[in-house]
Amino acid sequence: MAVTESAPAVAPAAQVRNTTGDAADKGGGYEAILRRQSQRESAARTYARSLPIVPVRARGLTIEGADGRRYLDCLSGAGTLALGHNHPVVLEAIRKVLDSGAPLHVLDLATPLKDAFTSELFATLPAELADNARIQFCGPAGTDAVEAALKLVRTATGRDGLLAFTGAYHGMTAGALSASGGATDVRVTRLPYPQQYRCPFGVGGDRGAELAARWTESLLDDPKSGVTTPAGMIVEAVQGEGGVIPAPDDWMRRMRRITADRSVPLVVDEVQTGVGRTGAFWAVQHSGVVPDVMVLSKAIGGSLPLAVIVYRSELDAWEPGAHAGTFRGNQLAMAAGTATLAYVRENKLAERAGILGARILGRLQGLAAAHPCVGDVRGRGLMIGVELVDPDAAGPDDPVPPAAPALALAVQQECLARGLIVELGGRHSAVVRLLPPLTLTDEQATAVLDRFADALAAAERAHTPTTGAPRTTPGPSH
Ligand code: PMP
Repeated sequence: MAVTESAPAVAPAAQVRNTTGDAADKGGGYEAILRRQSQRESAARTYARSLPIVPVRARGLTIEGADGRRYLDCLSGAGTLALGHNHPVVLEAIRKVLDSGAPLHVLDLATPLKDAFTSELFATLPAELADNARIQFCGPAGTDAVEAALKLVRTATGRDGLLAFTGAYHGMTAGALSASGGATDVRVTRLPYPQQYRCPFGVGGDRGAELAARWTESLLDDPKSGVTTPAGMIVEAVQGEGGVIPAPDDWMRRMRRITADRSVPLVVDEVQTGVGRTGAFWAVQHSGVVPDVMVLSKAIGGSLPLAVIVYRSELDAWEPGAHAGTFRGNQLAMAAGTATLAYVRENKLAERAGILGARILGRLQGLAAAHPCVGDVRGRGLMIGVELVDPDAAGPDDPVPPAAPALALAVQQECLARGLIVELGGRHSAVVRLLPPLTLTDEQATAVLDRFADALAAAERAHTPTTGAPRTTPGPSH
């Protein structure tokens, strides 16, 4: 397949050379940069806390830090970098725009770049939606597209209220609209998301998903449930931040039927699952579900900020200016996004993600068998999670052991020490998450797994009861 990288496929986690860069040198090196960061940046900073590195160069899977070390990056900008860092087709697309003299900022005006992006995006969508779709370019973050989706369905249905799921993550902008004197807070009814490992009904499997669906149905149909017909349902086909939990395809189809039968628009948030990540171009394609609204961001911008919603044209009942925003016309992001979407499509990287992901899951399941602290290994495509648990703390009535966030953090730190960047997530921040680029080679996958296995063993050793309490405390997951 046509996936090549000119940078070394796998770099050792050893000192390579001291490339601190000019700015770092003048400012006293990377340690001084990190010190200034912690002094000057917000207490709310996230990734920077658990990953104290100063990236200065990157290509494909590899990031080079100002300390001269190289890291295999399985965080990929929180799932953004479908083609890894600085892929040649992305760089070429960006350079072409810069050299062409095209305007970089045009609000939401029509441009050839936007036209090309829209055509490429529509070509990837489920045909039933694409044939009758509208697109709204949103502010640059996924969360803004979520806001737009909610506003759209509320306007179109004339209803408020929203169905959403336990463990969901859709963004951080709860208050902006209310503070602007626009719409008021959204009233959310929380529904159970099916989980195999920590099934809220204690049964797991198909039965657990069936019970979750029944609960949803009964809430909507029981006139005394306290829930009126809502404006929409929003769901992730694989929960990412919630701990890498794939919803069963049957359950997704059931949600489609439940919402369609009651004229409730189904909004699928594909911000993290999109562009091949789960083994299909869009995660809804596994189940064949055609949503009324899809929320898209992260990988669609080819590493630059871009967020859109695409939706059935019948919903397009909002007024001009109903969802505005200054930065909805990022031309570089559209060009980088078009190049990324086309590359993933032409090189069948979704299929590749499915095959390689299954292989990685198999090897991780082998690790789970050898390490009782690995409670569960799960995922879809190259969206993979390893849930760490404390087997000794399980009570006789506990179906599964409690989550072990301190151990997960220790694994993340041991990974970093071995030149591997991984993410944490899940309800208790106890799920180690792997989101490698779809261009990952077999050799790179092996290197990632070797380092992970080594880090897991080291963290487990340090956490066994004989060595006393964990050395680390849990931190925020994102
Ligand atoms: N939806 C999902 C499923 C996400 O994973 C995220 C980000 N992790 C968002 C929405 C929010 O995107 P952003 O951080 O760009 O606002």
